[in-house]
Formats: sequence, C-alpha cells, structure tokens
Amino acid sequence: MSRNKEKSLCAICGVELSGGKRLYPNPVCRQCDSRALNANGEKAKWGFEYVYETQESYREALEQTRHYYNDESIDAIIIPDAGENPVFIDGRKCWRRYRFGGYLTMKDDHDCSDISEFYRKHNKSRMKADEKTND
Ligand SMILES: [Zn+2]
Repeated sequence: MSRNKEKSLCAICGVELSGGKRLYPNPVCRQCDSRALNANGEKAKWGFEYVYETQESYREALEQTRHYYNDESIDAIIIPDAGENPVFIDGRKCWRRYRFGGYLTMKDDHDCSDISEFYRKHNKSRMKADEKTND
C-alpha cells in the first residue's frame, strides 16, 4: 500500500487541501466548513461572535477591562481562541481546533465525546498506518 505524504483530501468532499492541514486527522476544507452548524442546528460560531455575540457586549467588556486596569487608553480586547465544539457538517460530527485567531475543522469517525478523545482515537489509527508503511 502506498500513500502520498504531500496530499491531503477534505474528509467530506474529497477536494485536495493545501499544506499544513495534512498534519491533522481528517481535515475539512473551508467550503464544507462554511456549512457547519452547532448542536442546535444554528450556524457554528467562533472567536468574536462566539465570545461576545454582539458589538454591544464587546464594548461593554472593553469598558470593564478599562475600568479594571484603570486605563482608558486600552482600545481593544484580544479575541480568545474559542468557539463551538463539536460542529456538524451535513450531519457529520466534526471538531474544531481553535488557535492563532483561526481554526481548523476535522471530521470525527468515531463519534467521540470530546476533542481529546478525538485526538486519541484518530492519532492512534494514523500511527498504525505509519507502522504498516514502514517508513
Ligand atoms: Zn470539503
């Protein structure tokens, strides 16, 4: 069995993905990801939308931060790397890894109950595949 290390395909539609995504199990392309819903069937939120929901609540949080540090010159709050998990794309469960102001979506093959279980199960099967190819 041979496999091409340079290629990674979207775990949902099969389109070829670029670069870094192949380091992650079952990566999902941006196109498929744009259909992601949360457990309530609403568009999955992350970052600003997830944490503050509205401009108004963001401004309130900013005011509180200025007050807390007694510093009126604070002009922004860094958006935390956070968002909904799991998400569902065409009814398939997926997990998002939120980091560096963005995220990567990965398809769950084992109906995991949290993202650490996802990593455990999916990395294990990837290691098995590596052993078989003997490289
Ligand atoms: Zn796709």
